[in-house]
Amino acid sequence: MQNIKHTKIIILGSGPAGYTAAIYAARANLNPVLITGDNKGGQLMNTNEIENWPGDKNQITGSELMHRMYEHAIKYQTKIIPDKIISVEFNKKPFFLLGEKDKYTADSVIIATGSNPRYLGLNSEEEFKGRGVSTCAICDGFFYKDKEIAVVGGGNTAIEETLYLSNFVKKIYLIHRRNNFKAEKILIDRLAKLVKIKKVILYLNHTIKEILGNKSGVTHLIINNMNLKENIQKKLIVSGLFVAIGHVPNTDIFVNKLEIENGYIKIKQEKHGNYTQTSIPGIFAAGDVTDHVYRQAITSSASGCMAAIDSERYLNCYN
Ligand code: FAD
Ligand code: NAP
Repeated sequence: MQNIKHTKIIILGSGPAGYTAAIYAARANLNPVLITGDNKGGQLMNTNEIENWPGDKNQITGSELMHRMYEHAIKYQTKIIPDKIISVEFNKKPFFLLGEKDKYTADSVIIATGSNPRYLGLNSEEEFKGRGVSTCAICDGFFYKDKEIAVVGGGNTAIEETLYLSNFVKKIYLIHRRNNFKAEKILIDRLAKLVKIKKVILYLNHTIKEILGNKSGVTHLIINNMNLKENIQKKLIVSGLFVAIGHVPNTDIFVNKLEIENGYIKIKQEKHGNYTQTSIPGIFAAGDVTDHVYRQAITSSASGCMAAIDSERYLNCYN
């Protein structure tokens, strides 16, 4: 570990919120430092098709979009550091951040640490992580060519993962705990076509009770019909399970340091500016780490922009 690095503004996270904050802060001559975290590029790195990024009418991949954001941020001299912050001290100034590789101080901080995949919480899920249980179809789908697999979840991610996997797997069992999906209509319509040709078999109102397997990985799932009073279980023969049941905000290191509400960092949301300020002046937050409602690339970018503007105003007023 080297000497403490001081900067006016430090941004945590390299997803849409972090890179957008960096572009705005850099263009305000604040010479931002951006800490990438473990997942450089953020959640979009795991998606093959983005169809709703304004201005890109032709489908682009998540990694293409995030690479362009990265290049845009460095064009304006954002300093990008591959490190992960493991603890913070926000009760005195300058603010102090301890990374796995280095120590940092800053006059202002923008937290854009996004979220990580949620898991079902089964012991067997833990046992087969990386051996049949995955949260990323783009990363692992290739291993299931011509095999039968399952996807669990009912939101946009679950349907997109199913559509993507249908290009190369033999059959997909889509398991969802409700009888309707919360995904966008356009995705549900595409799914319906695959259901019609029996490429996708729906198990609505079903939950996964157990994931079974052997040394080489997953072999079966035990699922349960929630509608039936009797506990009748069904065995599905699959080689893999893609868990797509949402995300949990990355706020562990901010617990007891900032106000947190239902796991998300609480921001002021003031109507007349300072929208992204957290419970501590000078600390701002943007993107999925603050948002349990919209959670889109565009809304994350927008709030990253707002956080950079709020931070610039704070630095002008208080330093
Ligand atoms: P994230 O993208 O989650 O990025 C968080 C960043 O914080 C990461 O770089 C991570 O490394 C970093 N980080 C975390 N902890 C630390 C730490 N301790 N120190 C430093 N850095 C840290 N949205 C759309 O609009 N269109 C789509 O087509 C779309 N497709 C999606 C497909 C999938 C499979 C998923 C999962 C999501 C999709 N979304 C889509 C939602 C979109 O990805 C998110 O809304 C968006 O990425 C959130 O951006 P963010 O910058 O807030 O956080
Ligand atoms: P999500 O919208 O929160 O959906 C999670 C799904 O998993 C829900 O159907 C939920 O069931 C189910 N679920 C949650 N916990 C479960 C559990 N323990 N067991 C079984 N099922 C469980 O999450 P997401 O699909 O990952 O999407 C996250 C955000 O990213 C959303 O805002 C989404 O719009 C965005 N996104 C956008 C795109 C796009 O624009 N194309 C693509 C992907 C993601 P219930 O229905 O019962 O709640």
